Amino acid sequence: MNRRHLLQGALATAPIIGASQMARASDSAGGDSFSFVHFTDPHIQPERGAMDGMKQCLHMVNELEPDFAINGGDLIMDALHVSEERAKLEWDCAAECLAELKVPAYHVIGNHDIGGWSTRAQMDESSPYFGKAYFREHYGDGRTYRSFDHKGWHFIILDTIGQLPDSPDYRGWIDAEQTEWLKADLAAAGRDTPVVIATHVPFQTTLHQLTSDPTLAPVGPHGTVNNFHTIWKLLQSYNVQLILSGHGHIRERLDVGGLTHIQSGAVCGLWWKGDVHGEDEAFNVITCHADGSFDYRFESIGWKVRA
Ligand SMILES: [Zn+2]
Repeated sequence: MNRRHLLQGALATAPIIGASQMARASDSAGGDSFSFVHFTDPHIQPERGAMDGMKQCLHMVNELEPDFAINGGDLIMDALHVSEERAKLEWDCAAECLAELKVPAYHVIGNHDIGGWSTRAQMDESSPYFGKAYFREHYGDGRTYRSFDHKGWHFIILDTIGQLPDSPDYRGWIDAEQTEWLKADLAAAGRDTPVVIATHVPFQTTLHQLTSDPTLAPVGPHGTVNNFHTIWKLLQSYNVQLILSGHGHIRERLDVGGLTHIQSGAVCGLWWKGDVHGEDEAFNVITCHADGSFDYRFESIGWKVRA
């Protein structure tokens, strides 16, 4: 698939244009814009052709020649509930796929990237695949949250996976240590620098209202970052342009509380079993402009489901 085909595809799928993009239309001559890709929730496994699907996705990313890619998490199918052997197999599959990517990648940790945080865990705590250790070493440059600068923009990769107080199960959470780091990181970036934040668990989402009766199935500890309110006001003091997430496998844009939240669907769709509420397996291409605005479009990977 060549670049021209991809661009035609992008036009055919009609990008969503928000208020900030429309405001920018009169300023389209602007200087140093750049693009990056946000792909999330690939859930790589040996089954259902998932590795071919992921490689298809990464080949499309290579064709687009973005400056870099951000993986939004859940790189592997699941390490929460499986044996050490199975987790190793999935991480090996992920490494084989990512070897195809030709641009730098920054990785967000997803709940399924964590070994054995479950009441149904099949993995011993002494395993090198237990907890966040494997991700931290191989995909986090020794950390689970960090930041970097690119062409006048500041990018923050957060770790939104905490643990419930009295259970090994995970919850969406930003812990106190990370919150202190975030305060210092934003202060160093300054109030004018445009900021993009990438999380796995969304700060805000309507997924649960969309798919279930919220009086019968409340959001619960897994669906959102439960303590987002503790950093909401902090974020408003800075030039946070965009908060990217995954986790829910849906495409969603919410402009709420002075912030823009975009969830970028899922590379795996419904865990390689088909589309998600009619939306294809896809990734998000974001273009950042010199004036601090951005626009984005979703690219379907054109996947055909396999048995
Ligand atoms: Zn996922």
